[in-house]
Amino acid sequence: MPPIISLVIPVFNEGAMVHDNIGQILRAAEGAGYELELIAVDDGSRDNSAAEIERAAARDPRVRPVFFTRNFGKEAAIHAGLAHAKGDAVVVLDCDLQHPPELIPQMVEFWRKGLCVVDAVKSDRGEEALQDGFFANAFYALFSRFAGLDIRNHSDFKLLDREVVDTYLAFPEKHRFFRGLIGWANYPSVQIPFTVAARAGGTSQWSKAKLLRYAIDNLTSFSSVPLKLITYVGAAILALGAVIGFLSLLNWFEGRAIGGFTTVNLLIIVIGGAIMISLGIIGHYLARLYDEIKARPPYLTKPNRKPPQ
Ligand code: UDP
Ligand code: MG
Repeated sequence: MPPIISLVIPVFNEGAMVHDNIGQILRAAEGAGYELELIAVDDGSRDNSAAEIERAAARDPRVRPVFFTRNFGKEAAIHAGLAHAKGDAVVVLDCDLQHPPELIPQMVEFWRKGLCVVDAVKSDRGEEALQDGFFANAFYALFSRFAGLDIRNHSDFKLLDREVVDTYLAFPEKHRFFRGLIGWANYPSVQIPFTVAARAGGTSQWSKAKLLRYAIDNLTSFSSVPLKLITYVGAAILALGAVIGFLSLLNWFEGRAIGGFTTVNLLIIVIGGAIMISLGIIGHYLARLYDEIKARPPYLTKPNRKPPQ
């Protein structure tokens, strides 16, 4: 029996192009000595993506659809795809052809040579707005500093061996950062460069606010440095306070104390702000703990129920 390679594609509001893209991905991924299946995870699209996936599945039995009850996000879609994949290795890639599927046979070759993870790494971020590149760089710089993990230019375009997939699925974490966790696991891997292609159509589903939330969530799920920083910032403010306090006392003894309305105002604002930010950081970690402890499933799939005849 030849090995099966599963392709996992998350789909959210990709419209009519998803049908053709699935065909194109499968054609590009074909190679000698292995069979393919494609898990298309519809992440609660509000357009005709689900129908287009059904159409692709009706044409090609290698396509296996998974439908979410609502939008749970790309991370959840990847998770579900991995959970449904039956292959001996799994390749995760975007459905908008920004991750060139022509690389898949090459990735499979590396897997055959015994590597557990094949990382497609962006050698060129493609056509991207200047500020987007700046924010991405800032995120990866902070991430490598806080989490001690350099995943700059990594993408979700990866091949994983079955053993890695099973390990990933066994993690108890609910909110996951696929790229970060695979980097963290540090399995024997190889990196192959790719150029991010232009989107096959449609627009990116990531708003700026969603990206910022994603960045903060991922940073805090990999590092507790922000929490510890509060202590240092507090210590610095305390030291400053001690100096200012000493000088103020000195002035008072010498009868040179200023009517300090402005000073008091400024102090309250600065200290108040610092305390609120600190509470906010603690609150953020608390919220994450709360979410993890509730342990709700990261996604729900549509029931298969058919109306009674
Ligand atoms: N996607 C998803 N759920 C979402 C947002 C995006 O499954 O909530 C999918 C989307 O259909 C695509 C991939 O994730 O296959 C990457 O999304 P997109 O192309 O919008 O992001 P970008 O390429 O700009 O990073
Ligand atoms: Mg894209």
